[in-house]
Parts: sequence; C-alpha cells; structure tokens
Amino acid sequence: MAEAAKSDLFVGVDLGGTKILAGVFSPQLKLLQTAKLSTKSSRGFAAVVDRVARCVRDAVDEADMNLKQVRAIGIGAPGAIEPETGEVIFAPNLQWKDAPLKKELEKQLEIPVFVENDCNACALGVQEVELKGRTRNLLGIFLGTGIGGGLIIDGRVYRGFNGTAGELGHMVIQVGGPKCGCGNNGCFEALASRTALFREIQTRVKAGEKTILTDLLGGELDDLKSGDLRKAIRKGDKLVEKVVEGAAEYTGIAVANLINILNPEVVVLGGGVIDALEDEMMSIIVETALDYAMPGTTKGIEILASKLGDNAGITGGAVLARQRAK
Ligand SMILES: [Zn+2]
Repeated sequence: MAEAAKSDLFVGVDLGGTKILAGVFSPQLKLLQTAKLSTKSSRGFAAVVDRVARCVRDAVDEADMNLKQVRAIGIGAPGAIEPETGEVIFAPNLQWKDAPLKKELEKQLEIPVFVENDCNACALGVQEVELKGRTRNLLGIFLGTGIGGGLIIDGRVYRGFNGTAGELGHMVIQVGGPKCGCGNNGCFEALASRTALFREIQTRVKAGEKTILTDLLGGELDDLKSGDLRKAIRKGDKLVEKVVEGAAEYTGIAVANLINILNPEVVVLGGGVIDALEDEMMSIIVETALDYAMPGTTKGIEILASKLGDNAGITGGAVLARQRAK
C-alpha cells in the first residue's frame, strides 16, 4: 500500500444511537476497511467517545495501516451540531447536550476531527462520491427508524439559522394523523419511517387482518425487520403491500412539497427502509411526487435511490474530513 505512505488517508465515522461504524478511505475516497461497535450510549458521553476512538483504531488496524497515516476524521452525529467547534448541541437519542465531541476525540487520537449532522453527512457522501460532484443542489431524504434530511444548496450544506434545518421528518402531512415521537401528530416520520410501518402492521394484525409475517415471526411480530416486509410482499402478502404502498405515497407527497419549496436538482432517497424496499417503493414515490408537485417545477429533476446503503454515513464523514482538512 505504497500510496498511503504519507498521512493522506481519511476516516469517516457514522455515530448512531445503537452502533458506531468507522471506515478508512483512500485519498480518492475509496473505502478500504470498516469496523463496527455498539454505541452503549447509556454509559455516558466520555464512554461513547472512548468507543468511537476504539472503533477508529480498529478500522485503521484492520486495514493494516496506522493512525499516523490518517490526515483527518469526519463524523456524522445525530442531532444539532455546531460545525466550527464540533460540539453536539443537542442529541436526544444519545442524551447529549453541549457535548464537545471534536475536542475530546482530538485529545485521544491526535488527529483533526470534524463533526456534521448525520443526515447532512449522508447527503455529502451521496453528492461527492456516489454522484461524483455532478450536482450542487441536492436534497437527501433518509428513511430509517426516524426520517431525516440533508440539504446541499449551491454546493454547501444548508444549516439554517439555528443549525437545525432539514428536519423534514417533522413536516406535517396528515392533519390529525398518528402521534409522532416529537409530540406532534401526522408528521412524515409518523407515517413512513420503519417505526411507523411496523406500528401500522401491528395495529392491523391486532384488528384481525391477516399477514404471513405472523407465520414467520409469531403473533406479536417482535423481531420484525424491513427485509421481512420485502419478503412478505414478494410472497404476495396484501396487507404488507398496502402498508408499504401507503408509506411510499406519503413519501412522494413529502418529496413534492420539498420540490415546490426548494427546487433541488437531485432528490436522493436512502436509509434502511429504502435499502430494503427500493423496488417496492421508488416507482410509487416518483409517480406521486410528479403528480403532486406544482406543474413546471419538476422539469429535469432526478428522484433516485442511493446505492451507498449502510456506508452512506461513513462515506459522508470521509468527504467532510477531506473538505475540511484542506
Ligand atoms: Zn414529528
């Protein structure tokens, strides 16, 4: 690996509520190696910082490299971020407030660290690596346990006045709709996230509707995963198909609203729900979005699914590290 003799590698980190993923990237942002660790956020901020550092060291070691070869680390973290100081201002699912992530991690690893909101990082990864920088106006929508967004306008991450822009999961699209984790009702997240899909299926099963999922997983559907929904639909399960189609329609409506407001060149959908159900959802999302957007606003706009999958966050972290280390 002569190309990495100097300190020109980048490490991207995806810090989530349940797991930490770190990836070592070449100077050209080719992924060389990954490592994974559980977050154990209940142990508190200092313990999580230790685990992020450990995960970075593991990834670098697995790649047969050493830390001296790493020029910078970029982290995508959930919640509101202060990009200059690298503080996590507020992250409910880590229970962090004003957490000095950059400072503490730099102390441990002695490498420059840069922090960005996780969805913004994913959008950066898609823009720079997957789409090879061919657009400067991109909206990323990520459907997982919750729904988050990343906005790149004129080539830069758009953060808004308080740094919280892109909370598009909490756009209300069904007045009086199901309760959302944020306390509101009818948010996009309460209608199309994995949590919403599973809850809807469980509710309908309790009401007596039939699905093959109960044969596979038992009546309580405890261990349900997004991939199970795909399997069920492919076996002709009408209940699951109806619920997933509903979520795809809501997503299409959300995309139409966002196209009307922002007019991005590319809308990218990603996250665990899209990764598992791309074939079942994307055509409905695109059709609904084009149907609901104001006439004339969608000309030339691409709506596509990201292929980065689980690696979107670490890829974006590496992009961030390379951009900011310059
Ligand atoms: Zn909400």
